[in-house]
Order: sequence, then structure tokens, then C-alpha cells
Amino acid sequence: MKQLQDLVRPNIWALAPYSSARNEYAGHTAHVFLDANENPYNKPYNRYPDPLQEELKKKISKVKGVAPEKIFLGNGSDEAIDLCYRVFCEPKKDNVVAIEPTYGMYKVCADINDVEYRPVLLDENYQMSAKELLAACDENTKLIWICSPNNPSGNNMNPDEVTKVLNGFDGIVVVDEAYSDFSKARTFRQNLDDYPNLIVLNTFSKAWGCAAIRLGMAFAQKEIIDIFNKVKYPYNINALTQKKASEILDDIQDVREWLRLLLQERGPMMKAFGELPICKEIYPTDANFFLARMTDAQAIYDYLVKKGIIVRNRTRIQLCKNCLRVTIGTKSENAELIGALRQYKQ
Ligand SMILES: *Cc1c(COP(=O)(O)O)cnc(C)c1O
Repeated sequence: MKQLQDLVRPNIWALAPYSSARNEYAGHTAHVFLDANENPYNKPYNRYPDPLQEELKKKISKVKGVAPEKIFLGNGSDEAIDLCYRVFCEPKKDNVVAIEPTYGMYKVCADINDVEYRPVLLDENYQMSAKELLAACDENTKLIWICSPNNPSGNNMNPDEVTKVLNGFDGIVVVDEAYSDFSKARTFRQNLDDYPNLIVLNTFSKAWGCAAIRLGMAFAQKEIIDIFNKVKYPYNINALTQKKASEILDDIQDVREWLRLLLQERGPMMKAFGELPICKEIYPTDANFFLARMTDAQAIYDYLVKKGIIVRNRTRIQLCKNCLRVTIGTKSENAELIGALRQYKQ
């Protein structure tokens, strides 16, 4: 890996961050707070939330096995994705490399930040090649995006190939493990300390059942997390989100039970789906969704919309012609989808 200073944009490296009232007084013994121009009434909403979410990070640390100082919390993973560009990529000069097809936000954030995005096609089994990803890099490549399990294909990337990228690239490798709770594979989050250039993304939006509260996590070496904290909005995680996340972490039995139910549904649901005459191929998944190649994805999608059932039409995505992406729902939701598709007339 290059020196961190050579990867971070010079203006960000030199940035003197905004210092909030809650930053400047970080002790816990005071009882009169006249420093932040808050209203003394309307407790508890009158006070600014903890800008670094320290209590919440302690709880996350226990569940995820990552030290609190190696955790960044964002307004969804999307904030962490955007910060990767704002921290590392000089607009109009630097570029990033990513597997293709994958999660759309990597490209949208590249476009917003005016950073060149270099997609590298997966093979016909939706597997990545480290050699091809590395071959797409040049001296201005700052980030490589790997999503595993990958959205929309659902499968884990081959860990040996991911390791080759981590070892062979002198910039930052982001491994988005948004769906790793649904997979039995070893996560790269567990190997954080082996790779100074690794950023792992997790989210409360999928297995944790909290998409509405907007809470995403990035795990990386402390030096990278410190830079993220310097660039983010001072109070990026609001108090309601911190409270709800904290409650969920106090009772992770709920999350375990949801996971058990979804994984129990996944096999039979995919089997029934794969047996439909309009399904030509169903792809193996390590996530809470699967990709299926249909006879005519657009027509089937439109038919389902009329029945009030929404799946994701991926037919216009590279390597996904005529593919639908289907999330695993409750037993009755899944049964309703299969029932509707059995009645579909070609
Ligand atoms: C759903 C998803 C996320 C989650 O994004 P949030 O902003 O945390 O809701 C992240 N990465 C991938 C690949 C996803 O599919």
C-alpha cells in the first residue's frame, strides 16, 4: 500500500475540521450546558447527539469484533460510499475500478464527484478476476470496489481473488459486506488487521431490519476512520437513530430469529421459483435475495406490478438480460409471488 498521505486528497489531508461544542467538551461530569445554543426545554430532543456515537460504537464493537476506533458510522452505507470518493479521489483526475454488475451507488457517487468509474465485467458465473481488476488500474486509481455477497447476483466473490486484489493493489480496496449476515463464508471484516488498505462496509438496512433508521458502518484502520470523521457532517447520526440502533443491539435475539426464518424460506422459495416454466435459470445466492433469468423479465415484471407485487427488474443491467432480482419475504409473501407466477400466461 502507498502511504496514506499519498492516497488522501491534499485538501482533505490538510483539513482543519469543524469543531462542535460537543467535540470541545468531551467530559461527562458537567451538568449545566450553556455552550451549544440549545434550548433547555423539550428533553431529550433539545440536545445535539454525540458526534462520534461512542456508546453505540462500543455495542457494535462487541457484536462485530472490531475495536470502536476502527468503526465509522454513516447515514446509511451510502454516506460511507460517498465519503470514500470525497476523501480519496481528486475530481477529473483520479479513477476507481469496480466489479460489474454491482450495487449502483458506487457509480452514482463517482458521477456526483466527477470521478472516472471503470467497470470490469464478472464472468458468466458472476465471479471476479483479480488479474482483470488489477489490469484496469493505473497510477491514478485510488479505490477498487468489491461487493460480496454481490448485489444483484447474490453470490460471494471468491475470497482468494479478493485477497489477491488486497495484496496486489497499492490503493484502497472497499469490500461491501452488506449481506454477509446471510452467508456462512468468512468475512473480510474479521481480517481487517491484516490489510491496512481495506475498508469493509456493513449496514443496519438488511439482516438487522432497520433500513428506515439509515445507519451504515465502515470498518478500517484507525487512521482512515479518523479522516472519515473529520470530513463527515458533525452530527451525521441523529439521536433517534442512535437510540433505536442501541436497542436492537441490546436484543440481537430478534435479528437471529429473522435470519433463521429468512434462511429457512430461501431454499424452498428458490426451488419453487426455479421450477416455474417461465424461469430459465436461477443463480446461487449467499444473500436474502436471488437473481433469476426469465423468458421475458419486462412482461413478467409488468404482470406482477398489476397484481401489487414488486420485484426488481434488472434486465437492462450488464450480464443480467431478462433477469429479475427477488428478495426473500415472509412465507405468505413468497407464496403469493409463486402463486401469481404459476398463473402467468406467456
Ligand atoms: C442495500 C445495500 C447497502 C445498504 O445501503 P444503506 O445505505 O446502508 O441502506 C449497501 N451495499 C449494498 C451492496 C446494498 O445492496
